Amino acid sequence: MAYFKSDSKCDMLMNNLCEAFNRSIMDARDKPILTMLGRIPLYIMLLMAGRRVFCEKWHGQVGPRIRKILVKNKGKAQWCILKPAGQNRFEVMHHSGRNFAVDLNAHSCSCHAWDLNGMPCLHACAIISWFHGSLEDFCDAVYKKEAYLRAYEPMIMPMTSQGQWMKINLPPLLPRKYHK
Ligand SMILES: [Zn+2]
Repeated sequence: MAYFKSDSKCDMLMNNLCEAFNRSIMDARDKPILTMLGRIPLYIMLLMAGRRVFCEKWHGQVGPRIRKILVKNKGKAQWCILKPAGQNRFEVMHHSGRNFAVDLNAHSCSCHAWDLNGMPCLHACAIISWFHGSLEDFCDAVYKKEAYLRAYEPMIMPMTSQGQWMKINLPPLLPRKYHK
């Protein structure tokens, strides 16, 4: 945790993201190339359209997964004791006896969780809840609605069936010659 870079704002350590994508295009991958190139964009078109609709249903600035993490952190935060140092800096004592230094302006805590994943850790949640602030306001911009919509804004255009494609005077695409 100490040596991870803190600019990615991501808590994923595995490549599950691409594994999940590979699994979802499994059906298309073993098809002939034109069929495959029809199915993968269709999958992405539906996925992106679905994500845009999903985002419209968010109740706050962040999505339900992030909200759930914030609620969990806030629940754990009740065991913390705060000691203000000034200029939005605090020393937070956890019930385990460990102390953490939190800087609200820099969105940083010495536990490094806030720095790494961009969501207020339980120590930061303790402070934000103390002054009745919104936990969502202290989340990194990557988790906000605007960023989500920006990511899913590009559209895959709907495609017609092959019979309606424009005729062009180029030789048809043939499979490569087979060499043993
Ligand atoms: Zn912390």
